[in-house]
Amino acid sequence: MSQAQAAKKKASEYKTSLKPIWCPGCGDFGALTAFYNAFSEAGLDPKDVAIISGIGCSGRFGYFVKSYGFHVVHGRVLPIAMGTKISNSDLHVFGISGDGDSLAIGGGHIPHMARRNMKMVYVILDNAIYGLTKGQASPTSPLAMKTGTTPAGGFEKPVDPVLLMLAYGVTFVGRAYTAKHKTVSNLLVKAINHDGFAVIHAISPCPTFNKNVTFKSVSQLVEDIPEDHDPTNKMKAMELAMAKEKLYLGLFYQSEEPTLEAKLHLHEKHNMKPDTKEGLGNLLGKFQ
Ligand code: SF4
Repeated sequence: MSQAQAAKKKASEYKTSLKPIWCPGCGDFGALTAFYNAFSEAGLDPKDVAIISGIGCSGRFGYFVKSYGFHVVHGRVLPIAMGTKISNSDLHVFGISGDGDSLAIGGGHIPHMARRNMKMVYVILDNAIYGLTKGQASPTSPLAMKTGTTPAGGFEKPVDPVLLMLAYGVTFVGRAYTAKHKTVSNLLVKAINHDGFAVIHAISPCPTFNKNVTFKSVSQLVEDIPEDHDPTNKMKAMELAMAKEKLYLGLFYQSEEPTLEAKLHLHEKHNMKPDTKEGLGNLLGKFQ
């Protein structure tokens, strides 16, 4: 048995002592299980992991996974995740954001993270509604869906996160479904090993407030991406993303491109690391 294998933790060892306070049946439970399993499979050490989460029910995620964590202000997961990674490029950084947090108030950050291609994993837990604030229309709510803010039915077209990520030039784009938590953990393991910005669109129904996008309705639409799909073929990935009446699950697209860390030589320049006296002195010196 190799040293890495010997050091592997069980999935249950990534649980914290806090019990999730999501509603019974919330899709986010499946995502949490997938995180425990993927961390175990990838052999991540909690001291090497930082989970940055935004506002919304999904924002609580970091409390339940052994790691460093930062529950940040609305829509600002990506800038803070980027700052975390720049300060310590050895960390595995995960951003967790809901559909409202990531695609409304935080939507402007995504194309720029795509341009930078910084190595991190960004998971969009999409329940197509604002759950924490009791059921308002979000950027992914279906057209004509009635919510607290759209009592006569929504009139704005929903955003398609996968298509958007492909158009932005994200170098790893996948879709998963939290009711099938293996679809999430399989993608997470691949995303952890991807050298660049990886985005996973994880459909995660909200049984309390969304009576349109439900486990039943989503389960009728999902289907695995065909095995012969070539994930380096972006046009084909877009075609799959645009499929009518089907929600494909799996890896749509992956490309190898230089990361921001490589361009800035962050791995060689540990002078920003706050855990050394020299690093702290260098950092403070810039402001004197
Ligand atoms: Fe989950 Fe919806 Fe409850 Fe939030 S309101 S915890 S998204 S079921």
